Amino acid sequence: MWWKESVTALKGIGPKKAAELAELNIYTLGDLLSYYPRQEAYVDYSRLRTIRELATDGSKQIFTAVVFRIRDSFQGRGRKFTVVTVRDETGYADLYFFMNQRYMAKKLKIDEKILITGRIKQGRNAKMVSEVFYQTADSADVLTGIWPVYSLCGGLTQKNMRHWIKEAIKRAEKDLPESLPDYVIKECGFTDRLTALQNIHFPRDWNSLRQAQRRFVFEELFLLQCGLLYYRQSNESAKAGIKHGQDGQILQKLIATLPFKLTEQQQHAWREISLDMQDITPMHRILQGDVGSGKTVIGALTLAKAAENGFQGCMMAPTEILAAQHYQTLKEYFLPLGIRTGLLTGSIKTKERKALLDRLAAGEIDVVVGTHALLQEDVVFQKLSVVITDEQHRFGVGQRAALANKGQDAPDVLVMTATPIPRTLALTVYGDLEVSLIKGRPPGRKKVQTLCYTEEKRLEVYAGLRRQVKKGRQAYVVCPLIQESENLGVRSAENVFRELSQGVLQDVRCALLHGKLKDSDKNAVMTAFAAGEIDVLISTTVIEVGVNVPNAVLMVVENAERFGLAQLHQLRGRVGRGSEQSYCVLLTGTDNSETLARLQVLHDSDDGFYLAEQDLLLRGAGQLFGLRQHGLPDLRIADIIRDTEIIVSARKFALRLILQNNNWELLRELIDRQFDNRFQMIFNS
Ligand code: ADP
Ligand code: MG
Repeated sequence: MWWKESVTALKGIGPKKAAELAELNIYTLGDLLSYYPRQEAYVDYSRLRTIRELATDGSKQIFTAVVFRIRDSFQGRGRKFTVVTVRDETGYADLYFFMNQRYMAKKLKIDEKILITGRIKQGRNAKMVSEVFYQTADSADVLTGIWPVYSLCGGLTQKNMRHWIKEAIKRAEKDLPESLPDYVIKECGFTDRLTALQNIHFPRDWNSLRQAQRRFVFEELFLLQCGLLYYRQSNESAKAGIKHGQDGQILQKLIATLPFKLTEQQQHAWREISLDMQDITPMHRILQGDVGSGKTVIGALTLAKAAENGFQGCMMAPTEILAAQHYQTLKEYFLPLGIRTGLLTGSIKTKERKALLDRLAAGEIDVVVGTHALLQEDVVFQKLSVVITDEQHRFGVGQRAALANKGQDAPDVLVMTATPIPRTLALTVYGDLEVSLIKGRPPGRKKVQTLCYTEEKRLEVYAGLRRQVKKGRQAYVVCPLIQESENLGVRSAENVFRELSQGVLQDVRCALLHGKLKDSDKNAVMTAFAAGEIDVLISTTVIEVGVNVPNAVLMVVENAERFGLAQLHQLRGRVGRGSEQSYCVLLTGTDNSETLARLQVLHDSDDGFYLAEQDLLLRGAGQLFGLRQHGLPDLRIADIIRDTEIIVSARKFALRLILQNNNWELLRELIDRQFDNRFQMIFNS
C-alpha cells in the first residue's frame, strides 16, 4: 500500500523537509494527497491584474508585485501595524498587516516578487490592500489556469508542495482504492476518486473543482458517520435498556420540598425525561437551557428516580469545583429522602476513595457525583441506571460512552448543556439525540446589567467594586491569562490580583483562582468564596462553568475583547443568581469599532442561543465547533456548519450501509484509514 509509505519515498524530501511536513500532520503519501487546499484558496491566473487595473471597491483581487519598502506604524495605544509598499510597472500599493499578521510582513525581503490576494480600497496615497495573503511568485511557474494554494509552514514553498503532490498523484494513477460504495457514487453523481483527486489539487476548471470538493466533503462526512455508527453499535448493541417505574412517593416528596416551584418549562422537561426513563429503550437526551435556567434540579429529579427504583445514578461534571457544588446541592435535597450520596474527584484521599468505591459496588450509595475520576476502571456500580453529564461541551464522545458502559445494562443518558448546539453538530456528535429545552429563567431574577467601558474607566470600575464589597456583596474579576506573557497589553490574573490586593482592595479579602492551581487549592478557594469568606475572586475562565454563588453581584471582565460572546455570556451567568441587581462590566483596551460592536451585542441581549448564533456569524464555525472538543477527529475539508445538507445526506447513506452491511472488514479499514484509527482509540480507551 503505497499511500502508507513515508513522504521521504519521494525525491527531494529528506529528513528536514519531512520534519516540516510533519508539522502539517503530513507523514505519508496518503496524507500528502489529502492535504487539500482550503476551499477558497485557489488562484485563477487568468484574473491576474496590474496595480493600475485593481478596482478600489473593497473586493478581493489578485496581482503580482515587487516589495519596495517595509515600515512599522503606530495606531494609538502603542499598538503597531506594518505597511509593506509594493510596486509593479503601473504603480504602487500598500499592504496592511495588523496585530498577529505582522510576522508575515517580517518575512518579506526588499525586491522580492510576490503574488498577492487581498481586499482593495483606495488609501490616501496609494491603493490599500487589507486581509493580505501572499506567496512567493516563482518565476518559473507557468502562470495560467487555476492553481491550489496550500497552507504551509517553515521553509516549504508552494512550488515544493505542488511538485510532491503531482508525484504522489502519479502513484495514485496506477492504484487508488475507491473509498465510497458504488451505489453511493452513482446515486450522488460523484466522479471517481482519482479524477476528483486530480481536480481538487490541479483543477481543470472551476466546475471540476467544485465537483471534486463536493465529493471529498461527502466522503469525509460519510466516513465520519460510518465510524460513529459502527463503533457505537459495536459498543452498545449487546445491552438491554432499563425500565423505571412511574414517579412515586420519593419524587413527589422531593418536588414538594424544593425551595421553589418548578417552572412550566422545567416541568415539561421533567415529563419528557421521566417518560424516557420509563421506557425500555435507553434514553439519549440532551437538556438544553441557558445559564441559570435551572437544569441542576432536573438532574436531581432524574437521579432521584433512579434511586426510587432501587438503582444507582451518577453525575459527571467537568471541574472539581462544579462537582463539589452539585454534591452539596444534591445532598441537601436527598438527605431527608434517605437517598445516599457520594462525591468522587481526583483529590479525594486514597482511603476515603477505597471506602466509597466499596460502598458503590455494594449498592450502598445511590447517587455519586464526580469528575473524570468517575471514569477510572475500578469505579464499579452495582446497578447503574442513569448517567448524567453536566456542561457536556467539555466531555468527549468517548468519555460519555465510557461512563455509560459502566452499567450491566445500558443506562439512560442525560446530557445537560448551556451551549446551544447546532442541529448538524448534534447529529454528528450525538447521533439521534432527543432534545429537551428549558427556555428563560426562573421568575424573580433581575436581568444582569451589562456595561462596556474602555480602560480609562478602570479606576472608577474598581471603586464601584469596592463599594459593592463594603455593602457586603461579593465580586469576580476575570482575566484572559494566568500570567503575563508575550501578549503585551493583556491583563493577567496574577498581575491584577497583585495590583488589587496591594492597592484599591488592600483591606478586602481577595483570592486568586486559576487552572494551574492544585485541585485541592482550587476547591479551598471556591469553597471559601461560596461561604462568603472571600469578597473578591480574581480568576481566569475556570469559573466559567456552572458555579453558583448568589451573593456575587458584580463581575468585571478584563480584556473582554479576548473572549467570544458565548463565553462572556457563560461568565456573566455567574452573577445575577440572587434577587439583587447584578452587574457585568466589560473592560476593553481596544477602541476598534468592530470589537466594540461585538461587545455591544452582549449589552443588548441575554439570550444565550442568540449570542451563540452571533458568535457563529462573527467568528466563524471553526473556532466554536471544532470536533476535537468532542473527542472526534478534526475534519480536513468538510465544515460542520456550512455543509449541513451534505451531513444529513451522508448520514442517511451511512445508516443504510451500517444496517445492511456485510463487509465489516472493508468498512473498518476505510474508517481507520481516513481517521488514523482515532475511532478505535476513542471507543476502546
Ligand atoms: P443552570 O441551568 O445554569 O445549571 P442552576 O441549576 O444552577 O442553573 O440554577 C440556578 C439557580 O436557580 C439555582 O440557585 C437554583 O436553585 C435556582 N432555581 C432553579 N429552578 C428554580 C425555580 N423554578 N424557581 C426559582 N429558582 C430556581
Ligand atoms: Mg449548571
